[in-house]
Amino acid sequence: MVKKYIIDETLLPTRWYNILPDLPEPLPPSLNPATEEPVKPQDLEAIFPKEIVRQEVSLDRFVTIPEEVREVYSIWRPTPLVRASRLERVLKTPARIYFKYEGVSPPGSHKPNTAVAQAYYNLREGVQRLTTETGAGQWGSALAFATNLFGLKLTVYMVKASYQQKPYRAILMKTWGAEVVPSPSNRTRVGREILEREPDNPGSLGIAISEAIEDAVTHEHTKYSLGSVLNHVLMHQTVIGLEAIEQMKLADDFPDYVVGCVGGGSNFAGLAYPFYMLVRDRKAPKNVKFIAVEPTAAPSLTKGEYMYDYGDTARLTPLIKMYTLGHDYIPPPIHAGGLRYHGAAPTLSLLKKHGIFDSVAYDQVSVFNAAVLFAQAEGFIPAPESAHAIKAVVDLALEAREKNEERVILFNLSGHGLLDLAAYADYFEGRLPAYEYPKEKVVESIERLRAHLASIGIA
Ligand SMILES: *Cc1c(COP(=O)(O)O)cnc(C)c1O
Repeated sequence: MVKKYIIDETLLPTRWYNILPDLPEPLPPSLNPATEEPVKPQDLEAIFPKEIVRQEVSLDRFVTIPEEVREVYSIWRPTPLVRASRLERVLKTPARIYFKYEGVSPPGSHKPNTAVAQAYYNLREGVQRLTTETGAGQWGSALAFATNLFGLKLTVYMVKASYQQKPYRAILMKTWGAEVVPSPSNRTRVGREILEREPDNPGSLGIAISEAIEDAVTHEHTKYSLGSVLNHVLMHQTVIGLEAIEQMKLADDFPDYVVGCVGGGSNFAGLAYPFYMLVRDRKAPKNVKFIAVEPTAAPSLTKGEYMYDYGDTARLTPLIKMYTLGHDYIPPPIHAGGLRYHGAAPTLSLLKKHGIFDSVAYDQVSVFNAAVLFAQAEGFIPAPESAHAIKAVVDLALEAREKNEERVILFNLSGHGLLDLAAYADYFEGRLPAYEYPKEKVVESIERLRAHLASIGIA
């Protein structure tokens, strides 16, 4: 039986799918917190190149992928679609399970799908250096891979605690020529102020964002780059779903369920949005259930509120309408670093509010149980983030067994876990706590946010 569907390189998508014109209602605008007015494209051009800003608000249904970007994609794209028949056998399920494997990219995840596009547009507009932040290092390494190929410089502000505890991703970034700065650093005003008060501050994603933005706006020919949440990032990721549609045709099958893990929402949207387009256009042979999977430690879609909030802890970003746990939410130190975010992409949040997309949350112990089950059945070692999707798929497949129901499940295996073996070691030694974010804390944080929004005149 053929179980690995790789399409011909010439079928690599030529266009990204933009969901903005196809949403059930127009996306609420991002707001400038100082003026309460919608953010103007010119405001964004201080930190992003013009073409990225244009894509962020574009209402064109499709955007052509530049040939230079497709050429780089072809290093690892199209990625395989795999029928997980060994996992089906282990679970004794009548369900048919497929996964799209994004771990074959050189940095090992879906993130270069947008990093390559962003590096290209910056280069084309004369930018010489990019800045960004990274937590565990997945985004930083994806952008380092991309800037290296296009001959741009890159400065990555990496949360100091991760820099010290997880050295391998920093080494990857350096190998691809990036400068990695443990944050807080003395390179920026923000960083120096923090270090003066608190020389041993371990850093946070919020601080690293502040440093990266300050560096970009205070230097010539320098821009900033972000790896999830924003509309253009999710659009770049749709190559995943567009390929998967063609590959499901080769398999002569179609999913009842499309599943993915959600940090900011980019890998899940990348797989799911093109299937949403088919359903919306009445071109799908059946209806599809879309399931976003989160950690119980950061359950923004599952336990958060749909309201305006800042994208970062330091309140530097515009206010965006999304499901949020409150920007002062401090994520427990779970191993799925890429899922430790207080909010979720605005388009994904809107689809969840309309009941078109659904979400579930799992704790990291049950997630690692599923990760090891999958590794023993299929061979691939999943990233802890991707393993959240696997846990949901295992539950759906077991439910299918109980109901003796044929169902087709497609999920995104967003990355491999070969640089996350310390997390597996903690799991085997019973050192992983099953964190659950307490509902009271969400309520407190949301109340603080409501009071703050009222004080600046935003309902
Ligand atoms: C960063 C990351 C995620 C989470 O980010 P999204 O924007 O939600 O996709 C998931 N999986 C992997 C492997 C990652 O590196």
